[in-house]
Amino acid sequence: MNRISLKEMKLFGHTGCLPEEKRDGQYFYVSIDMFFPALKGAVTDQLQDTVNYAEVYDMVQSLVEQSNCNLIEHLAYEIGRRVISEYDQISKVSVLVKKPGAPIDGVFEDMEAMIEVKRREAVISFGSNMGDREQYIRQAVDLISRQDGIRIKDISALYETEPVGYDDQDYFLNGCLKIETYLEPYELLHILQRIELDLGRQRTIKNGPRTVDLDILLMSGVRIDTPELTIPHPRMYERAFVLIPLKDLGMYAGPVPDGKEVLPTGIRFEV
Ligand code: AMP
Repeated sequence: MNRISLKEMKLFGHTGCLPEEKRDGQYFYVSIDMFFPALKGAVTDQLQDTVNYAEVYDMVQSLVEQSNCNLIEHLAYEIGRRVISEYDQISKVSVLVKKPGAPIDGVFEDMEAMIEVKRREAVISFGSNMGDREQYIRQAVDLISRQDGIRIKDISALYETEPVGYDDQDYFLNGCLKIETYLEPYELLHILQRIELDLGRQRTIKNGPRTVDLDILLMSGVRIDTPELTIPHPRMYERAFVLIPLKDLGMYAGPVPDGKEVLPTGIRFEV
């Protein structure tokens, strides 16, 4: 893929776990590779159609100089996120931070961490069956769209759906959202959980009534299987209320289990 790189920027900073590293500081060497699916500047020869590397240098320099974090991998992640957030044309950034003066009692050539930050597509399912359901969903979608690092690409129609897993509750409104994001999966999960809480979600009965429920269904290139986070979502293929909106987004074409009602409402939000 097209790439522009800046190599071995020598910068002074205070990243490190030890008090003396934070106090005295040391030199870091930062290299950054920026990848572009299409680089207009290569064709037009105009500075405004590319990434200005002098600007990138300044950004990296101020992050290294001001950062007070413990780990160079965190510093690399901060740099990657900052750079990708500034330039829409960049699809992936990889950042290498070296700390040759790392406090290790032994002989070594270098100590380094490399972090990649990239844009991915993800699908989030949403549902509500308490209060003004449509309004809760509207608020959730609005809050998601305001998050740094998330861009909404498409949204399905809303469906009125019979509850699954716990029957003694009202019908849900459900749908799905396609986003582009450079956030890490756990970070996305925590943002969605924060929004659920902000909108009054309480976890009392498993699969019970909720003001708003937000789940990550899919994330391109991501497979995770932990108790905190499983992607693809483990139950998505059993749930018609997920698969039918996914079909709206053109992201599923397989069979849909029947048994539970999933009724079109005709409501569709503007992206
Ligand atoms: P619920 O909000 O009731 O659907 O369940 C949320 C719980 O499932 C939380 O404890 C999450 O950590 C966990 N979880 C696992 N995988 C996912 C996922 N893909 N999206 C959202 N929550 C997930």
